[in-house]
Amino acid sequence: MSPALELVGGAVVGSAAGTAAVRWPDGALCHPRRSTCAGCGRTVRARDLVPVVAWLRLRGRCRDCAAPIDARLPAIEISSALLAVLLIGVHGGTRGVALSAGAIALLVAATVDLRHRVVPDRLTLPLAAGALAAFPVVVGNASRPQVLAWALGAPLALQALVLVARAVGSPRPIGGGDIKLLVGVLLLAGAVDGGPPAVLLGATVIGGVVASLGLVSGRLGRTSRLPFAPAIAAAYLLVVLVPGAAEALLAPFGGVR
Ligand SMILES: [Zn+2]
Repeated sequence: MSPALELVGGAVVGSAAGTAAVRWPDGALCHPRRSTCAGCGRTVRARDLVPVVAWLRLRGRCRDCAAPIDARLPAIEISSALLAVLLIGVHGGTRGVALSAGAIALLVAATVDLRHRVVPDRLTLPLAAGALAAFPVVVGNASRPQVLAWALGAPLALQALVLVARAVGSPRPIGGGDIKLLVGVLLLAGAVDGGPPAVLLGATVIGGVVASLGLVSGRLGRTSRLPFAPAIAAAYLLVVLVPGAAEALLAPFGGVR
């Protein structure tokens, strides 16, 4: 695959993903249809759907009513294009495409979680199914049993923790959407040796730091739910993009085994 093709492919998929993310709970994630302007409701012209280029040409405004177009849309398009090129560069064609699809799904999950404090089933369930289908090309023979154990065991353990917390009346430690999200993410992270535990550890550390900062700055209450999907997304990208990251994360725990 040529980098130009990867860039364009990433941007096109990112454009659909970005539209779904920005519009949730309306729009493509629930009701696929042609894009319309959020301001005037008119159908967006085909030439104004070209990722990034259209946003720049229109200076971020609707051609008909000049309502601002969400800047997260071109941001997700550019990130998706770059992630596709980088991940295919690090992991090669087939595996890189599967990991890019996971990365783009995580961009959507993080965007929706930050805004609505929810990670929709419409995203996590197809991601888990897709990751399972891609499992034979993504994860090498030797590490398959281990990766499956992490990808199914960790979400089950977290779900058990949620039930215990509910039984004793403590706040929910993690959202149900985050737990479902982890199934697909951990399966894909199996592309890297030690990937699944490294992603869990990385997400916990990143989520912990963000929660502490939120508590100290007073932006988060002691019982407010933290959007955890962005931490999962950051940890996944770190582990699958940066060679040696999983090893470095796991080093204090005896390294990758
Ligand atoms: Zn408009």
